Amino acid sequence: MRGKSKKVVLIGTGMVGMSFAYSALNRNLCDEMVLIDVDKKRAVGEAMDLNHGLAFSGTSMKIYAGDYDECRDADIVVICAGVNQKPGESRLELLKRNAEVFETIVDPVVRSGFSGIFIVATNPVDIMTRITYELSRFEPHRVIGTGTTLDTARLRYLLGEYFRIDPRNVHAYVIGEHGDSEFTPWSQALLATKPISKVLQDNSNKFRQNDLDQISTEVRNAAQKIILAKRATYYGIGMAITRIVRAVLSDEQSVLTVSGRLRGEYGRKNVFLGNPCIIGRNGIDRTIELSLTQDELKALHNSYDILEDSFRQIEL
Ligand code: NAD
Repeated sequence: MRGKSKKVVLIGTGMVGMSFAYSALNRNLCDEMVLIDVDKKRAVGEAMDLNHGLAFSGTSMKIYAGDYDECRDADIVVICAGVNQKPGESRLELLKRNAEVFETIVDPVVRSGFSGIFIVATNPVDIMTRITYELSRFEPHRVIGTGTTLDTARLRYLLGEYFRIDPRNVHAYVIGEHGDSEFTPWSQALLATKPISKVLQDNSNKFRQNDLDQISTEVRNAAQKIILAKRATYYGIGMAITRIVRAVLSDEQSVLTVSGRLRGEYGRKNVFLGNPCIIGRNGIDRTIELSLTQDELKALHNSYDILEDSFRQIEL
């Protein structure tokens, strides 16, 4: 990490990228933020708009539109760039087009001499993070996807409502693919230090596993529900990115369910998927291998296989 000045480059100044930038400005996340987009005019306009809010923000963050050379001395490059699905286009075709977009992004970032941490939010995020890793050839701990951080936040919020407890005292995770095969390993879920399974046992007239399964489904379908209502989701993911960036810049050693590369955990390798990881200045410091039940392990392997198959279908 460079001296005291903290520099973040954001690539992709669409709804997700700018929700992150806006949240970063309000949290005084860094000293310098550079905006890059293939649509340069948009990046310039977004920088102007944010700068006009500086006077109200209590920070003196330097925000400007720039070019890939700016990545050279950056601590973090956040990628939110992507293309949208065309009518009639399959998921795989979209994935291939986004893989091409990433070639035009990751190569110039690496060529700039960038020596920091990549954080990827573009969907399908686990695959796009793996593509970033393959294209950059960085050490795996320096390439992080947002993974299931947002899904985990949604889960904790809903469990907090259900049990009437502050979500910060709910310790439960959504893991696996950020997508249809993600799941909640209930065997690992705690309210404060009490296992949720024991809470159900002790309050069987009040709380039921069926309700928890419904909450899990609600989390999985949340993005689709929001997209139906307002076409896209961006505030939540913008704040999730801010949370990950802060953990890196402040060397927090915080546990977040980011998408990281498996290196033998759960008996699997190479695939990037959402799992609790310890995040600090070096990116992913450690990966926590949960003590999953046989059924949960099966669900994780299912996610793994789906992600491995998708990755195999694109040629880099
Ligand atoms: P958007 O269309 O508003 O923005 C995308 C931006 O990328 C545009 O400004 C576009 O000009 C830019 N772009 C396209 N090609 C580029 C290139 N080659 N170089 C630089 N910039 C380029 O989309 P959005 O709503 O901001 O979503 C961005 C991505 O985030 C999507 O892939 C979306 O699915 C994903 N997303 C992820 C999560 C998550 O949990 N990980 C949640 C919500 C959205």
